[in-house]
Amino acid sequence: MNLPDYVTECLDALENAGFAAYAVGGCVRDAWLGLMPQDFDLCTEALPGETEAIFGDRRLVLAGEKHGTVGVVTDFGVVEITTFRTEGAYRDNRHPDWVKFVPEVEQDLARRDFTINAMAYSPKRGFADPFGGRADLEAKVLRTVGAPEKRFQEDSLRILRGVRFAVRYGLTVEPETEKAMRSQAHLMDNLARERVFEELCKLLPLVNTADLIRFAPLLAAVIPELGPMIGFDQHSPHHAYDLYTHVAHVVAGVPAELPLRWAALLHDVGKIPTFTQDANGRGHFYGHAQAGAEMADEILRRLKAPTALRQQVVTLVAGHMTRLEPSKKALRRQLGRLGWDTVEKLLYLQEADMGSKGTGEPADMAQFSLIRSLLEEIKLENACLSVKDLAVNGHDLMALGFAGKAIGDCLNTLLEQVLEEKLPNEKQALLQFVQTNL
Ligand code: ATP
Ligand code: MG
Repeated sequence: MNLPDYVTECLDALENAGFAAYAVGGCVRDAWLGLMPQDFDLCTEALPGETEAIFGDRRLVLAGEKHGTVGVVTDFGVVEITTFRTEGAYRDNRHPDWVKFVPEVEQDLARRDFTINAMAYSPKRGFADPFGGRADLEAKVLRTVGAPEKRFQEDSLRILRGVRFAVRYGLTVEPETEKAMRSQAHLMDNLARERVFEELCKLLPLVNTADLIRFAPLLAAVIPELGPMIGFDQHSPHHAYDLYTHVAHVVAGVPAELPLRWAALLHDVGKIPTFTQDANGRGHFYGHAQAGAEMADEILRRLKAPTALRQQVVTLVAGHMTRLEPSKKALRRQLGRLGWDTVEKLLYLQEADMGSKGTGEPADMAQFSLIRSLLEEIKLENACLSVKDLAVNGHDLMALGFAGKAIGDCLNTLLEQVLEEKLPNEKQALLQFVQTNL
């Protein structure tokens, strides 16, 4: 395994002081897969105080010292060096109740979640792989280190981590591990919501349709609103898929950006509470976009999502049924109301939604490329989309004797005229209109 120089230097410094030291975890796994590791974590026999002394002339990050981690600042980022340790259960669902430093790397590897994450490598000592991580990687199997139920009971976030690793590396889940993931999924109720949210944010950009279907019950364990959607028959000639399968296609069909992936996942949650059937047995979901927006808001508040993300997702869910029209006038209005970023995302969401009905109907998908080309044109025109883009401002109107609320009303009237293409966005034309009409 090739290690970059700045990592080898840290390992050498520890070994030269007489302490065993290894690269460990994700970097070893990724190196076996021929991938460039994202970062390099080290583990060592040296106690935190000893590590600190060895790197005394370097800048250190000591926030994790209680749990055995000393961060060494290098030109290439912080290298985390953690003393070999075992740990107790995570009763606060965040940190282990206790950690105990141990002398052997094998004991440290035993506390790690999955066999593929429980390998270490040292240029001097070679590989440590006591749980068959490499064989599992080669067979493309995800398996816990030790008894799966117990390991998920210690820290149930490992269930979602497992989903993420299975998805990221295309692994099948070993049957006992899979069984325990399902049987212990309810324990994720006890996790700190931020931890769940963070893990879902790592997962969502990676998933395809089949992944979402395979792990549906585990996702529903952390977002209960998804539960009733699984297998839900929409009773509609427009939908060949059950509701959750449709959603799975839409998620995989939008670009892998968080606001879009979250909006796709939640866009139809409002269909469950708004479902009705008419005399012919046909399903309807009147008002489901608005109902869904409120539910999405609640879900993302519960998960402690950042406000900006939550608000954008809510806007997208609320707007997913209001089709963008291939007309410049209409698009300029939407751009003024929602902004470029949201309009472009809404277009992706509506396109994926339309394309994921599974009916095989040649839906009218051409309109989406038409809308895109109109948006390009609007961009090039540097168009006036909101009051602040107008060629006149409040001061200009004050000079004409307007005051207070009348200024805002007047600007809105002008914007209307410009959006309707009745007036050009030019100062003279606008002022003239004001003087003759208002
Ligand atoms: P990534 O590429 O996503 O960073 P990673 O394997 O490096 O993957 P980290 O979350 O950075 O994952 O954790 C580093 C290592 O620490 C893991 O490889 C694993 O050995 C161990 N680990 C992390 N979280 C847990 C946990 N909740 N339970 C047990 N071991 C864990
Ligand atoms: Mg990592």
